Amino acid sequence: MPNPLYDALIGPHSTSDAVFLHLACGSDVSFRAFADMAGRMAAALAAAGLAKGDRVAVQVEKSAPALAVYAACVQRGLVFLPLNTAYTGAELTYFMTDSGARALICDAAAAPALAPVAAQTPATLMSMAADGTLDTGAPAPPCPDKVIDCSPDDLAAILYTSGTTGRSKGAMLTHRNLLSNAQSLCDIWEITDADRLLHALPIFHTHGLFVAINTSLLAGASVIFLPRLDMDDLIRWLPHATTMMGVPTFYTRMLADPRVTHDLVAHMRLFISGSAPLLAQTHADFLDRTGHLILERYGMTETNMITSNPLRGDRVAGSVGLPLPGVEVRITEPATADTPPTIVADGQTGMIELRGPNVFAGYWNMPEKTAEELRPDGWFLTGDLGCIDARGYLHIVGRAKDLIITGGYNVYPKEIELMLDALAEVVESAIVGLPHPDLGEAVVAFVVPQPHHPPDEAGLLERISPQLARFKHPRAVIFVAELPRNVMGKVQKAQLRTDYAEHFAD
Ligand code: ATP
Ligand code: MG
Repeated sequence: MPNPLYDALIGPHSTSDAVFLHLACGSDVSFRAFADMAGRMAAALAAAGLAKGDRVAVQVEKSAPALAVYAACVQRGLVFLPLNTAYTGAELTYFMTDSGARALICDAAAAPALAPVAAQTPATLMSMAADGTLDTGAPAPPCPDKVIDCSPDDLAAILYTSGTTGRSKGAMLTHRNLLSNAQSLCDIWEITDADRLLHALPIFHTHGLFVAINTSLLAGASVIFLPRLDMDDLIRWLPHATTMMGVPTFYTRMLADPRVTHDLVAHMRLFISGSAPLLAQTHADFLDRTGHLILERYGMTETNMITSNPLRGDRVAGSVGLPLPGVEVRITEPATADTPPTIVADGQTGMIELRGPNVFAGYWNMPEKTAEELRPDGWFLTGDLGCIDARGYLHIVGRAKDLIITGGYNVYPKEIELMLDALAEVVESAIVGLPHPDLGEAVVAFVVPQPHHPPDEAGLLERISPQLARFKHPRAVIFVAELPRNVMGKVQKAQLRTDYAEHFAD
């Protein structure tokens, strides 16, 4: 009876006593114990009447049982739908209603607060005890449950996008999508059962869940499973790890801590970064401090991972690397699914499109949006802008929605951000287009200044202006203590646009 994900990720290790999860408290969970816990949950979900294809929303803190719910859903052919733990009442109601979830699984402690939310949706609230016991409201089943047949095209998960450019969309991911990506990543990053992955990411995003967990399960690798990035925990556990996956803010925080030394991480095999752009300065400083070149890769909820710098070849700072095996990437202009694509020349900037077994099955409940972004021949328009250099490495230039059109000219924010970020007086910057009565949009620089020698606006502009065409000159510099970021470290430009919408108002 085939079930592609179960057969590759869970079944092969279900009798292994090797450690799957090292928990921060010091206790371990073996692969066998994990599979058993998932099997009991699968039985409880079946006894509660959930059937193949039903969506199971899950809003729980990071824990071993939280991962076992994912495995249980895979086992039963249920569609796993993880939700950000920060979502509250109205947001939860939206995701539950939009997805038509039949169950909402939460931690026992959160159940009283979530009961009124679940009551407004078709979902049954189920609470999960710390040992993984599910209270579904139905009588407890006698024994672990069987594995349900699934085809490679059956849905395994719906993952909502981060909502950086608008309302989050539910990306439908199939067994084929997730498995092909895990296989490619294990191949190119040479993940084996000798690896111990340091995991401090949330598990409701593609990065912390599929990239990190599916690859570890597939390879039989152990995971050091930390609730969040806590520097004391990190210092304690890094000596036991062989690999780490993080977002750029992890690496800046590590650099801010003098305990992160060459000796502490000399034994490590690989540091990986993704989900947001890694500053060239962070890349260089990390190499300088630790002797490790961070490997940057690029992906998104709809497609899992798309490109990666090579493990053994040149890792190019500022590039997200080469397409994964089986994934095609091209740069096109113009950029809609209705217009035939024109492939731009090497080095030219355009829309990043890709095709491959990792590309999702469409957005849940959004056929029009799906048609806008998925061409009939399988090419997906990512909404990101980029270029491919002569060696085939992809460089991300930014998001199409962040492109600024000022007085009829196109301005790519990243070009200016890179110049500002290179200045000693600047910690980091974000270039944003704000509404302007004459120009349509005006180029504005949000700058986090270095506390020790803070810059002034005129001085900054004087330094960068000679290298930029006049229309690209920022019309204003706004100094901020920090840039707004979400939990994955992505800068929230939409929030800056909203907060400062009146800046140039008459
Ligand atoms: P939404 O689609 O709802 O607006 P989102 O695009 O931020 O939100 P995700 O799918 O979590 O949601 O993020 C994918 C995006 O993150 C990519 O499209 C890209 O813009 C950005 N990204 C991921 N990795 C990198 C990277 N290494 N460098 C630059 N950007 C990256
Ligand atoms: Mg997106």
